[in-house]
Amino acid sequence: MAAPMSKTCSHALKFSVIAECSVSKARSAVMTLPHGPVSTPVFMPVGTQGTLKGLLPSQVEELGCQIMLSNTYHLGMRPGPELLQKAGGLHKFMGWNRNLLTDSGGFQMVSLVKLSVVTEDGVKFQSPYDGREIMLSPEKSIEIQQAIGADIMMQLDDVVHSSTTGPRLEEAMHRTIRWVDRCIEAHSTPEIQNLFPIVQGGLDETLRTECVSKLIEREVPGYAIGGLSGGEEKSVFWKMVNVSTDHLPKNKPRYLMGVGFATDLVVCCALGVDMFDCVFPTRTARFGCALILTGQLELKREKYAMDFNPIDPDCTCSTCKRHTRAYLHTLVKEETVACHLLTIHNLTFQMTLMKNIRESIEQDRFPLFVKNYMKSAFPDEKYPEWIVDALNAVNINLKNK
Ligand SMILES: [Zn+2]
Repeated sequence: MAAPMSKTCSHALKFSVIAECSVSKARSAVMTLPHGPVSTPVFMPVGTQGTLKGLLPSQVEELGCQIMLSNTYHLGMRPGPELLQKAGGLHKFMGWNRNLLTDSGGFQMVSLVKLSVVTEDGVKFQSPYDGREIMLSPEKSIEIQQAIGADIMMQLDDVVHSSTTGPRLEEAMHRTIRWVDRCIEAHSTPEIQNLFPIVQGGLDETLRTECVSKLIEREVPGYAIGGLSGGEEKSVFWKMVNVSTDHLPKNKPRYLMGVGFATDLVVCCALGVDMFDCVFPTRTARFGCALILTGQLELKREKYAMDFNPIDPDCTCSTCKRHTRAYLHTLVKEETVACHLLTIHNLTFQMTLMKNIRESIEQDRFPLFVKNYMKSAFPDEKYPEWIVDALNAVNINLKNK
């Protein structure tokens, strides 16, 4: 069966590659969306319910964030699509004039709601708010994401756990392709909103390749790589990313869902990924943890009680400029302000890393950046095997001087 083309070939997204690494698959680009330009590779923080926990939208803006993520499942439940539509969309409702990306709601449903059933129609589940039965179909997901007004919407996909194999995995991959066609059909605002399909296929290289080859027949503005970062072995994870970027078109953005650890970001940029999201940096801040190059500082720990250094002396964030680890240690168990201060630092950490990655690609010194980065992150130079292998696959050899 021939793939249905979207109703129009014009998208609300322009992707201009600025520079390509001469060694690896890394590239730097500007992705222009309805609410402004986004420099890629980009890390997108996650604001679950129309807010980034612990920060004001104006603060997120001040950190230089050009795009953030919101969860369709949560927003669809509360305040709901009708109210959002009345409010003129989520940008207006939350006072955020930059770009928004929404997920389809499917992942949350499968991971948060115990009683969810996937059929060809969609995902059926019981509302945790009032117990009524709700069907999230591909069409319904698009309807909610259109009410939200996201600059980038995700297709509803058939999500399976990364350990799933055999016929169920195959079914999920093929159903994801059938559902993307229903999403394309339901998508009535291609001139102001972009729809990304999601590459599925679990940890099976053949299925992933097949999925990519089917999806690239569709006229879409960009692609997401899904179904990873679910606790699978890193040695398989990077191969799935690599095989996906190998087959995806070079002139469109590639978004790896749910990845946000610093070393993973560096490796996956080398593999040719442009966009990332993860709750980790903001979530770990709420648990009193500050991100640093070698991991994270658990500021609750007694050893910081008398430590009058900033989290990171080289960090340019307002928290590091004004406050000591000892001060944060005192606040962290008691005050919500600790969550603000740590979220500011952790997002600055992520944004600075991505900026350094982009600059190194633009100056064609990305391989050197990667080597220096890994040396700082693993001072004993005992690099995890998967990092060595993944980088080797794109001609960056950590062991060569
Ligand atoms: Zn800082």
